[in-house]
Amino acid sequence: MRDCIFCRIIEKKIPAKIVYEDEFAIAFEDINPQAPVHTLVIPKKHISTLLDLKDEDSNLIHHLLKVANKIARDKGIAERGFRLVTNCNPESGQSVYHIHFHILGGRQMHWPPG
Ligand code: AMP
Repeated sequence: MRDCIFCRIIEKKIPAKIVYEDEFAIAFEDINPQAPVHTLVIPKKHISTLLDLKDEDSNLIHHLLKVANKIARDKGIAERGFRLVTNCNPESGQSVYHIHFHILGGRQMHWPPG
């Protein structure tokens, strides 16, 4: 989608540190990391928010979760613990309107989140 920064990363029109890619998903390092591990997993299909998910996206979401698990294992944070975060709409802090899972780990997380 034009004007979507994550679609531009998928198209390789802007650079990103890509750590995983397949037919349906791509993962890259967050440009402003909030933890020692902060990787984003996104679908190649442009979906603006969680609220825009359709029934037909069920397999895609399952796939994204499996990719997130793989990255957590590959980065050595799976057993220690990690957090998977998706922000939806302004009060959550969503700033990029192309759904993404933040994989956060490598330090102790706190609750409640800010
Ligand atoms: P959210 O605020 O939940 O929508 O998350 C968007 C995330 O995308 C933020 O953590 C940003 O730091 C990250 N981000 C924005 N632009 C880029 C980029 N060009 N490359 C990597 N991460 C980005």
